[in-house]
Amino acid sequence: MPKKRRSGGRTRGKKGVGTQVSCAACGQLVEKSKAKKFTTYSSGVEYKLAKEIQSEGGYIPRQKKVQYYCVSCAIHRHKIRPGRKREERKRK
Ligand SMILES: [Zn+2]
Repeated sequence: MPKKRRSGGRTRGKKGVGTQVSCAACGQLVEKSKAKKFTTYSSGVEYKLAKEIQSEGGYIPRQKKVQYYCVSCAIHRHKIRPGRKREERKRK
């Protein structure tokens, strides 16, 4: 069977098996180099109030949240899109 991608969708290079992370949506274990990483920042302060505080030079502490998604979940949740259009994908 022909291979779709030489790398198999990973970025590990010549390394063997990498560390595994679990998908935030379905819990499937995915290799870290293949999983899609999304970082979001959140604070307990409301957006409007936060803007006001920041405009007056205040500091609002925020929490960093890192989530990993497997490729199928990332596409399903519209986090990433296929690189080429549908017709283009069918072309050889
Ligand atoms: Zn998943």
